[in-house]
Amino acid sequence: MNYDSTPLLMNSNLVVSTVPNLFIEEDRLRHAPTVKDLVRSMEPVNKKTPCLEVLERFLNNTEIYAIPVVDDAQRPVTLVDRKVFIEYFAKPYAREIFGRRPIQDVRNFESYHCHEPIIVEDTSCIEDVAQIIIGAGMHHMVTGFMVTRQSLYQGVANGHDLLNLITQRKQAELFYLAHYDHLTGVPNRTLLGDRLKQACLDAERKGLLVALLFIDVDRFKNINDSLGHSFGDAVLRTIVSRLKTAARKSDTVARIGGDEFVILMDNLNDPEGADLVAERLLESMQTPVDLLGHSLVVTVSIGVAIYPRDDTDISRLMAKADAAMYEAKATGRNGFRVYVEGKALFDPSRLSLESELRQAIDQGDLELFYQPQVDITTQQLRGVEALVRWRHPVRGMISPLEFIPLAEECGLILRLGEWVLREACRQLHDWDERGYAPMRMSINVSAVQFQQANFVVVLKTVLEESRVNPAFIELELTESVLMHNVEEVLVTLMEIRALGVSLAIDDFGTGYSSLNYLRRFPINRLKIDQSFVRDIEHTPANESITKAIIALAESLSLEIVAEGIEKTTERAVLENLGCTEGQGYFFAKPLSATDVSVWIETQAARSSLSDVSRQLDAINSASVS
Ligand code: C2E
Ligand code: MG
Ligand code: MG
Repeated sequence: MNYDSTPLLMNSNLVVSTVPNLFIEEDRLRHAPTVKDLVRSMEPVNKKTPCLEVLERFLNNTEIYAIPVVDDAQRPVTLVDRKVFIEYFAKPYAREIFGRRPIQDVRNFESYHCHEPIIVEDTSCIEDVAQIIIGAGMHHMVTGFMVTRQSLYQGVANGHDLLNLITQRKQAELFYLAHYDHLTGVPNRTLLGDRLKQACLDAERKGLLVALLFIDVDRFKNINDSLGHSFGDAVLRTIVSRLKTAARKSDTVARIGGDEFVILMDNLNDPEGADLVAERLLESMQTPVDLLGHSLVVTVSIGVAIYPRDDTDISRLMAKADAAMYEAKATGRNGFRVYVEGKALFDPSRLSLESELRQAIDQGDLELFYQPQVDITTQQLRGVEALVRWRHPVRGMISPLEFIPLAEECGLILRLGEWVLREACRQLHDWDERGYAPMRMSINVSAVQFQQANFVVVLKTVLEESRVNPAFIELELTESVLMHNVEEVLVTLMEIRALGVSLAIDDFGTGYSSLNYLRRFPINRLKIDQSFVRDIEHTPANESITKAIIALAESLSLEIVAEGIEKTTERAVLENLGCTEGQGYFFAKPLSATDVSVWIETQAARSSLSDVSRQLDAINSASVS
């Protein structure tokens, strides 16, 4: 049933559905000779009748299935039937209407619309609620369930509310994962970056200073290699606790790399405050670390840079603290150095990476890899996702996670993104020419690229030039792309769909997961994020969320693909949950174009081999019998 095709007046007046016949239950129709007869047997209402009155009529007369609606001249306008009426109207009004009624009444009333109501205590945990709903059937994502507190009716919630709850919780978890270091529990580089930015703004306003202490453990690699990783981990935790003791309560202690830490001191009156903390830390490190039967003195080297004295640009300030730290290492370790103006920065600055990336685009050092997306049961190829790689002459293959954010920041993403579009389409056309079975090409589009004014024009040109069938092109957008300037986004999405290209939401469930945009936007597919797939067989929360996403996709007629499947057990659980397509190392890693061809041909050979062996089995069993 397509709900969108039934424009409804969402006010307290009567609902008018343009396709009433859709909502007449089939057996009703069988017993009534014609729809007209059915209508004639009921007393009509005027289309201006308040909907609460109509609802009362449904409540008071259980025999009524549908009510004809007439206009002021008594001409029939439409039918309003119980099911649709309840779906659209009873829910918002339910608290008002049912709040005064015993729960039993509510239960009886709800049962008229085909399904036993689901009653959930509002103290249940969300996983249980998800289990209950999914156990009872997918349609409850839409039709909802009743919420009680100590068995008293509280209201009606639907699957959307449920999903929002799940998302909010997940977001809190993801926030923690994204901002804190797992091993030591202190802020990571991202959160440090935020706090540093804030601290500098504050300092500017108040005329104060901010100090950055860049701390690196001396010879940590030796410790790790000789005494083992768990000892290494324990040392890092001990260092964090000593950093915290040396710093002031209000300072931020962050871990920004394996054995690299930063102390951020804000609201500082004079730079000496930082020296004091550095000295205190060096002194505290003289006490041996006693752990797991070992006792050793671990030393650190510290570099200090001060905002705004040494720099007002945050990343350069970090680089200067880092350079000072290297100075401390170079002059014997176990000490601290303050940044001295004019010292060469040790860290290759971002600018060089940026110009290298620019060059890489020009010189063709970028490459596309393709990761198969397969039927989760038969493992037959359905499509590939294009994933960009940078073959750096010195650093080797660089992950897009490293250079896409940089490209977005400096605007290079537009050229990069266009190159990706062009190359992916060219490759698809090439495979097509070779006679491979049609497959989908999924292409990631970054937010900056999507928001570019002429994005659709570029897309159209590329499609025309590459002569691919747009029906096999899918663009992957993240939820964050869809959340800003909703009206403009909607127009762009419509234009893209009008070209025949389809749309997928990448990493679904990790963003805002607003149900509103899902219903409004012409999306074709949800990609279940790999964080939900990970260990799904042992993680009930992941299973519940995945179930909810699949139910949601079904209720909105969206296709689905699960990302990051690594294990056969994960594949099996997802298949059982009704997920139809999968992508992940379990099936294939991202492959070069040549390797994709090999993969396809091997798959084809394997499937014809299994055909042959099936035929042989059939022949054998026939000859035995
Ligand atoms: P994504 O679009 O979510 O892509 C999936 C990422 O998961 C890929 O990482 C892929 O290699 C990785 N992956 C796939 N299967 C598994 C698995 O079983 N286990 C694990 N642990 N990982 C798996 P990759 O290639 O490093 O790409 C990272 C992200 O960079 C992509 O995430 C996408 O957001 C972005 N990206 C990649 N190529 C492009 C591009 O051409 N344009 C834009 N704008 N972004 C891109
Ligand atoms: Mg993607
Ligand atoms: Mg993804």
